[in-house]
Amino acid sequence: MDKDFHRTFTKCPCCGGEDRFMEKLGEELKAKGMAREEWNFHLDIKQGVVIDSAMANSIPIGSEVPGYGFMTDICMDCGCIYAIDLLRNDAKSRIDLTSPMPNRGQRRRDAREQSKLFHPFSRS
Ligand SMILES: [Zn+2]
Repeated sequence: MDKDFHRTFTKCPCCGGEDRFMEKLGEELKAKGMAREEWNFHLDIKQGVVIDSAMANSIPIGSEVPGYGFMTDICMDCGCIYAIDLLRNDAKSRIDLTSPMPNRGQRRRDAREQSKLFHPFSRS
């Protein structure tokens, strides 16, 4: 898989319908002026990394592991739940549970890096 894999789907894979339940609810909120125009509402947003928990502590710091992000919604025509956005979002291993607490500067850098890593759908 490409490291920059990113795909969006605008139609239901079952029936081809284009109306999505959660998106429509969000549009109603926007129409009332109660949500930002650029904001979008989805059924689910998931993000994370692929890790074998039995091996997590033996992964060297700085190793890149495959990460993911996706959003789903529900087709209003047939009820199918489907992915509308799929994104590969690799992350560098940087937490060593056996090492002492990082100093304040390192914690700040880590927090900045983490805020970038775990918001795969923000566009900058
Ligand atoms: Zn459908």
